[in-house]
Amino acid sequence: MPRIVQKYGGTSVGDVERIKKVAERIKAAREEGHETVVVLSARAGVTNELIARAKGLCPNPSERELDQLLAIGEQESIALMAMALHGISVPAVSYTGAQAGILTDKVHTMAKIKMVEPRLIERDLAEGRVVIVAGFQGIDDDGQVTTLGRGGSDLTAVALAAALRADRCEIYTDVDGVYTADPRVVKTARKLAEISYDEMLELASSGSKVMQSRSVEFAKKYGVVFEVRSSFNHNPGTLVKEEVAYMERVVVRGIAADKDQAKVIVSNIRDQPGSAAAVFRGLSNANVNVDMIVQNVGRHGVANLTFTVPQADTERAVKALEPVLAAVGGGEVAVHGRIAKLSVVGVGMKTHSGVAATLFQALADVGINIDLISTSEIKISVVIALDRADEAVRAAHAAFGLDKG
Ligand code: ADP
Ligand code: ASP
Ligand code: MG
Repeated sequence: MPRIVQKYGGTSVGDVERIKKVAERIKAAREEGHETVVVLSARAGVTNELIARAKGLCPNPSERELDQLLAIGEQESIALMAMALHGISVPAVSYTGAQAGILTDKVHTMAKIKMVEPRLIERDLAEGRVVIVAGFQGIDDDGQVTTLGRGGSDLTAVALAAALRADRCEIYTDVDGVYTADPRVVKTARKLAEISYDEMLELASSGSKVMQSRSVEFAKKYGVVFEVRSSFNHNPGTLVKEEVAYMERVVVRGIAADKDQAKVIVSNIRDQPGSAAAVFRGLSNANVNVDMIVQNVGRHGVANLTFTVPQADTERAVKALEPVLAAVGGGEVAVHGRIAKLSVVGVGMKTHSGVAATLFQALADVGINIDLISTSEIKISVVIALDRADEAVRAAHAAFGLDKG
């Protein structure tokens, strides 16, 4: 029997009506003759509400307790879905991450999946039940509940598809696929029929929230082809898969904006061997995720280092830099939070030139200033002012002809 893993995100299970609708879709998949495993997110908004409640009690909640708390969001969804399926005479059983055999490392709030032991799932599938698994959560060697990072239900789905050798993996969300840009921001964005893992990975790690970036990394590593689709209609979605030669004919596949970044400027540090190494070693030891590094060498033997970090890492970055600057003979730190990182992504960039020029001209034409620039083989990113981000995405989208199709 063909095997299918379906994942439904937060808006897809947002209320009782939506749960009933999704239950009908699951029933249909089973009746088509699939062994069906379903991964669910918490209802839309629940994870954020739980985080806010935790922070209301304690500004820096323990990560272990946060995981204990956040795991309940998904647990509500799976139990309700199993009941909805029972209500329409579909045999189904719900499992937490631990019960489903999602084994992780011990890094609370950002755990990595080490192994999947789907013993109970295999048994239930053999006995004809639909298995409903809580996304985003697992268990470590000590039996502690862990979570897989925001958006982590995508990762649960991909990891289960790999472990169960599923024939299909479908990620159901509130848009009917991956678009050339966030369709909420760019009305003329177009749905892509397919996209390579590398492009999806770059878009996801550049702020496209449609897929969690770690789930795409996992899919690439284990060769899990998956389809992003809408749970609100039956339109074909976007296939995410290995790059094939013809994909390079398209220079720019999509555009993303990350509005959760901050810029850190370390000024007046001694321009001597070892300064930059000390700064970035200190940041790395504090688990700060650094991107887009620029160094300007000034006069009088001092230099400035500018780089971007996720907003959430800024406090840790500043704290980590204090002892480092004291050790390298001085320097000051300033943080600018109101920035956005815009990224243009496409495997075709490997073989086409002029992408940077087109992007810079498009931004210049609408009077948007570029602050920092970085490039890789299939991506160009620029830092711009936060309040111009949406306009910049639309300008770049038009300049690369993505509106037309
Ligand atoms: P879910 O709760 O189903 O996991 P998410 O909110 O995490 O859904 O992701 C879906 C959202 O991603 C869409 O509503 C859309 O606004 C946003 N998004 C951002 N970039 C893109 C893109 N390039 N293509 C499609 N959706 C995108
Ligand atoms: N509920 C979690 C989150 O909001 C995981 C997910 O939805 O994928 O991040
Ligand atoms: Mg998501």
